[in-house]
Amino acid sequence: MAAQVVLMFTLLTPKILRWSRLSVEFKKYMCIVCGWIYDEELGAPGEGLEAGTKWEDVPLNWTCPDCGASKEDFEMVEI
Ligand SMILES: [Zn+2]
Repeated sequence: MAAQVVLMFTLLTPKILRWSRLSVEFKKYMCIVCGWIYDEELGAPGEGLEAGTKWEDVPLNWTCPDCGASKEDFEMVEI
């Protein structure tokens, strides 16, 4: 019985670790007009967005601080 529990735990742990890492993964979004980058991890404190603010939580009426482009003009980027 104990051995089965250990085996189950061994099988599940990597999955849980991978899942928890995914859930705290921050993405970056770049303004395709001027190249300004929004980093979810850093947020944009000067723009009223706290560090860790997810892109989907950024208000729809939010605009690029550099060029005023709308949220729709941003694209997710891998850096
Ligand atoms: Zn811009």
